[in-house]
Amino acid sequence: MSLLQPARSLPRSLGVRTLRHRVAFAFDIDGVLKAGPTVLEPARRALQLLEGNNARSVRVPYVYVTNGGGPSETERAALLQRELGVPVSPTQVIQAHTVMQSLVQDFGDKPVLMIGGPEGVPGASRAVMEGYGFRDVYTAQDIQAWAPPVYPFAKLDPRWHEAGAVRQADFSQVHFAAIMVFHDSRDWGRDIQLMCDVLRSRDGVVGNVGDDTHPQVPLFFSHGDLLWGNDFLASRFGQGAFQHAVAAVYKATSGRDLVATTFGKPERGTYEYAHERLRARAAELGHEAGELNTWMVGDNPASDIAGANGYGWASALVRTGVFRDVEGPPAHQPTIIVDDVEGAVLHALEQEWGTSAQRKH
Ligand SMILES: [Mg+2]
Repeated sequence: MSLLQPARSLPRSLGVRTLRHRVAFAFDIDGVLKAGPTVLEPARRALQLLEGNNARSVRVPYVYVTNGGGPSETERAALLQRELGVPVSPTQVIQAHTVMQSLVQDFGDKPVLMIGGPEGVPGASRAVMEGYGFRDVYTAQDIQAWAPPVYPFAKLDPRWHEAGAVRQADFSQVHFAAIMVFHDSRDWGRDIQLMCDVLRSRDGVVGNVGDDTHPQVPLFFSHGDLLWGNDFLASRFGQGAFQHAVAAVYKATSGRDLVATTFGKPERGTYEYAHERLRARAAELGHEAGELNTWMVGDNPASDIAGANGYGWASALVRTGVFRDVEGPPAHQPTIIVDDVEGAVLHALEQEWGTSAQRKH
């Protein structure tokens, strides 16, 4: 019998049980589904299970919640679909900067300094921000093009001019209303310099250094991961490491503590957003409304697991990424520690369903 059938057609006891406990998943990507550019084989099997190749032949709602980013949600969904071999809707993709859309109401029509993001296609990250509704976005490259001495140790990549991606302005007249770190900085030196220029400015204008008693320009980071796992043998610095560096240089130059808002995991707002998406996904799959019992599957105790614990989700910590047993017990205790994402999904489904999750052949 399929869970997709309306509960009223089920025996009463079964209907009540299935309504009250409906399992859903939120997957981290890096270190869980992928190691660097490589898709992990257990990830393919885990997702096939959730797409209906399971003992109950039901499709299970899930979303991807990554502190990664760069492309739009539509582009990322298409990429994931090619990589993972399952259908992926843009509404299932929650990147670190996805939740920054909530800032459009306050800053949508004001000048914003956007920091970070992939530079393979000049201007592509700005286009993502514009897609969210921000209408006045400037990049570090725009300021470099306006005044190369603003950071003389790195030259603007000439492809920005060739592609027509530089947005020209007289930055002595631009009053930035906010700084948004969209994705990892590709040039910490340049970006810390420009951020401190604006943070220390008395009116949000680059270079108008004040006396550091004025209110600080609002600053937003898309996530705060200190470390992340890729295909290198040790963990790599994440945006959280960059935030530490910005704060240290700002403190050393201004004497003030940096004030910033951070999105992404483990921040509660990201989990609330994911929860709403999962409810919508369950409805799309034809499941009747009911309580969701959601499992976060992640490799990073400090973000994936800490956020799940804070929001009241179950969690599975995998051994394919940042977390390593040799470094001792995780700082944030998950519901279970498993070798990989397939182990996580099998454990969760079997616990929720009370039977084997794998289809009998
Ligand atoms: Mg990860």
